[in-house]
Amino acid sequence: MKRVSILGATGSIGQNTLDLIRRSPERFDVVALTGGRNIRQLAEDAIEFNADLAVTAFDDLAEDLCLALAGTGVEVAAGADAVTEAAARPAQWIMSAIVGVAGLPPSFEALKQGTTLALANKESLVTAGQLLMNTARQNHARILPVDSEHSAIYQSLVGEDVAAVDRVIITASGGAFREWPVEDLANATLEQASAHPNWDMGQRITIDSASMFNKALEVIEAREFFGFRPEQIEVLVHPESIVHAMVGFCDGGFMAHIGPHDMRHAIGYALNWPQREDLPLEQLDFAALGQLTFVHPDLQRYPALRLAREVMERRGLSGAVFNAAKERCLDHFIAGRMGFVDMARVIEDVLNDISSSPGLIDAEITLDQVLHVDHLSRQSADRLVKERIS
Ligand code: NDP
Repeated sequence: MKRVSILGATGSIGQNTLDLIRRSPERFDVVALTGGRNIRQLAEDAIEFNADLAVTAFDDLAEDLCLALAGTGVEVAAGADAVTEAAARPAQWIMSAIVGVAGLPPSFEALKQGTTLALANKESLVTAGQLLMNTARQNHARILPVDSEHSAIYQSLVGEDVAAVDRVIITASGGAFREWPVEDLANATLEQASAHPNWDMGQRITIDSASMFNKALEVIEAREFFGFRPEQIEVLVHPESIVHAMVGFCDGGFMAHIGPHDMRHAIGYALNWPQREDLPLEQLDFAALGQLTFVHPDLQRYPALRLAREVMERRGLSGAVFNAAKERCLDHFIAGRMGFVDMARVIEDVLNDISSSPGLIDAEITLDQVLHVDHLSRQSADRLVKERIS
């Protein structure tokens, strides 16, 4: 049996992972499950999967979790450090599916135990890519990407030499404002930004899809994980969203990865790697699809893509600045304190602000330094948003 832990078990990726594990109980032994505020789900899952340990990231919920698991034999812990300790529990496969930079310390800890880390938490690579990749190498750990585009690139590279890659194309749905006149974006409302043309996801990732900040993070993630040069990574808008990525080789040939837009494909690939197993997914009907469309993204509509290039050029800790500023601007947009197009302007200002402080983004990439820069960038974003309002 494979000993597995799921960090962020109560979220969308975590629940999809448990859905696959539930279908093959004889193959998996659940070590630790972690969650945040959804204590009911965490407790239910810990009982169903007979987990050794259940952890909530929030100290104030310790008692609720203890009560929910009283008499079950499941060990209980609470707090951010307890989540990181859960990642240190010996396991052969660990899913990193916490949202935000909170996922970084547990991802880092999991790699230190030399395990296989299924990485959905893109913020870990965006904020501390070099640190993570070095830690994996030093500890003979393996990272399997779970973001669908990166899983697609990974699968396209099996048996290939990365040195023979000419370019990679990451596809994007284009989000809610794909067809909007650019000049109307200034008036885009929260409700409009939260309506994805293709599928239902959480509100934050849907807005990040409309602005393409999600794609910008993915471009940086691809650079950090695969080591491609920035100019090798392209984004194309592909409204049908079934080609997740294409890898072009020096001989002019391409490997394209096509799959249903169901995250259980990428999760299942990582869970079963290096084998492939049956997955409960809808079969694609190419004839019904008829045609596939690809268009260049308009950088005026999606300034996030231009900012991703800047981050890749600046390197160092600029990914941590970008991610933190993006997270705070999204909070402010959702709270109605800033407009949709203002998000990119403030994020650019934060990048310039933090980069102008000597030695900050060029400092050695350690966990503490990433979290320090993250904190400063959030403060900078808050200040800049306040200045714009007043
Ligand atoms: P969700 O918001 O659905 O779930 C996030 C998980 O993290 C939940 O278990 C949540 O707990 C937990 N959590 C929240 N805050 C904290 C915290 N401070 N400390 C520890 N745990 C916390 O996110 P998703 O599952 O959608 O995404 C997870 C990651 O995977 C993200 O990085 C996302 O970008 C990436 N990803 C997601 C995809 C998707 O389709 N959803 C696709 C590809 C990548 P609780 O809910 O109990 O509060």
